[in-house]
Amino acid sequence: MSRPYCKCFEAQYSGSKWSKTKLHTEQQDTECDAWKRLLELVEIAAAEKHKVFAPECEMEPEDWHQIVTLPKTISKLKSVKRLLLYGSNLVRIPPEIGEMTNLKEFDPYTSYRLHWFPYEITRCKKLKDSTVSTRALYGNFKYRPPFPKLPVGVVPEASSPTKCSVCDASVNASNLHQVWISLRVATDVLPLLVNACSQGCIDKLPHPPKRYIQKPHRGGLNIQQPPKDYL
Ligand SMILES: [Zn+2]
Ligand SMILES: [Zn+2]
Repeated sequence: MSRPYCKCFEAQYSGSKWSKTKLHTEQQDTECDAWKRLLELVEIAAAEKHKVFAPECEMEPEDWHQIVTLPKTISKLKSVKRLLLYGSNLVRIPPEIGEMTNLKEFDPYTSYRLHWFPYEITRCKKLKDSTVSTRALYGNFKYRPPFPKLPVGVVPEASSPTKCSVCDASVNASNLHQVWISLRVATDVLPLLVNACSQGCIDKLPHPPKRYIQKPHRGGLNIQQPPKDYL
């Protein structure tokens, strides 16, 4: 099975005008052997207190490429310092990554379909090193691909958030306030998706670094981004 590439960022290489981008909605097949194997690898790493979690090293490539997200059980990986996801087909990472309290190094390099990260990754206080393919990110400084427009009053099925990214209060369609924010995380500035319970929680978000959109926003083509290559 060849690795599926996405066309979300085609415009940045062809030089054509950006059209709107959309969040990947691929659902994980949780019945396949690849997913069951991944769940098992998480359990083993948690029980044996592994310091490195590198599922691609323990899975056949055709199995690894069937994985589009990580299980919520990654929250159990409290001893893991290095999370290696090289060359994955991931389209999202669950907020539970924020519970990997010892994480120091995050390496999803060449995961070309991973265009954003959950805000909860900022809870990994020891995170110091990251190797991210920045050209695959929404709002990257090289090409400024647009952020997908976030819906209002809808809980997105693909990621179905249950807790506020900021205060942990429960969120549902009636109180979910989703915003994008670009923040420095370890080595890189990453586009982060915030599932907030209120405007109050959005107001508590940190200030983005220079050269990035200077406040939380809801995405879409109308959002003015800093110029390309602006350093
Ligand atoms: Zn894509
Ligand atoms: Zn909140």
